[in-house]
Amino acid sequence: MNKLKITFFDAKDYDRDSFVRANSEDRLEINFFETRLSEDTCRLAEGADAVCVFVNDDINSRVIDILAEMKIKLIALRCAGYNNVDVEYAYGKIHVVRVPAYSPYAVAEHAMALLLTSVRRIHKAYIRTRDFNFSLNGLTGFDLHGKTAGVIGTGKIGRVFIDICKGFGMNVIAYDKYPAAGTEINYVPLDEIWEKSDIISFHCPLTDENRHMVNAASIAKMKKGVVLLNTSRGALIDTEALVEGIKLRKVGAACLDVYEEESNVFFHDYSNHIVEDDTLARLISMPNVIVTSHQAFLTEEALKNIADTTLENIEEFFANGYSKNEVCYKCPEVKTCGQEHNKGCFNATGVKTEEKDRNTF
Ligand code: NAD
Repeated sequence: MNKLKITFFDAKDYDRDSFVRANSEDRLEINFFETRLSEDTCRLAEGADAVCVFVNDDINSRVIDILAEMKIKLIALRCAGYNNVDVEYAYGKIHVVRVPAYSPYAVAEHAMALLLTSVRRIHKAYIRTRDFNFSLNGLTGFDLHGKTAGVIGTGKIGRVFIDICKGFGMNVIAYDKYPAAGTEINYVPLDEIWEKSDIISFHCPLTDENRHMVNAASIAKMKKGVVLLNTSRGALIDTEALVEGIKLRKVGAACLDVYEEESNVFFHDYSNHIVEDDTLARLISMPNVIVTSHQAFLTEEALKNIADTTLENIEEFFANGYSKNEVCYKCPEVKTCGQEHNKGCFNATGVKTEEKDRNTF
């Protein structure tokens, strides 16, 4: 059997390392490209069976048409979210698989790392002592013990974050649109999160409904000095309202691993450029704001799981005609989703696909 050919877009050094390691015995042919997948770069995938993409590759209808025209059967996302794929347009044309979970610990631990850095001013102290400035003025922090953490989204990552907060002796309250039954999680209405929390951490997906859930009105309800932690998706926060909240001294600190306009800047080195995004530049200039570049997932363990699951998804799909990690636009509405157990989202045969049929479903 010929090797499956994968064209890998937006490849970074750490991606290459983990995927080369996961691709033991070179069982798949993986061609790595640094460029993102777009209308202009699609043709690099000519002759491939699948493309492998990440969070900021823009898989719009035109890209899908070109991929389908080239008889590429699979878009393998090496991430959990699929908001960058026009899944509705892809339906019936090209299958989409993702990595639903790789390490909730990576993200939850990064959220706590940001929080500790912020409240103990580690980012300031690090710079001072490198400059032999051993003064403590302006570095006063506060104890996390006894403070109230409000956690929004109590799925895989939110729950790990709750456990970490409890380990610090914090009181935890939580809000979830779909609260989990049979847990000890202390669910409260959203307004109570805004009103009672000293720290608010976001661990829910971005949807049309919760876009800009942090806005001027919700900030007005928050405690003075609240610390906002966002490791979820940038557009949960209206950034202009956040800047205003910080200027008014209402928001005490913000720790952002994600940013609503991140696709223009994150993952790239602009250290020799003038940053065009004034809002981001303003945020970064503030002493009580810490920005990391969508880095929360980046641990050895998460990279290994991402690479292993992505390759398993691809091999399972081409061997059996389905992957358990396939997604389509119907997935969020479980009631209308036609996917049966172990069947693809569309055209599912469940029948083992011969090599000659590779391009037929
Ligand atoms: P999950 O699906 O396990 O949990 C999400 C939770 O959010 C669920 O309990 C769900 O009921 C809840 N939810 C859905 N809509 C909501 C709403 N409108 N309001 C409140 N809660 C709502 O997901 P997860 O694995 O815990 O990931 C959470 C989020 O973390 C992802 O959606 C993604 O945006 C983000 N993430 C970020 C990184 C990173 O590197 N920064 C990496 C992975 C995931």
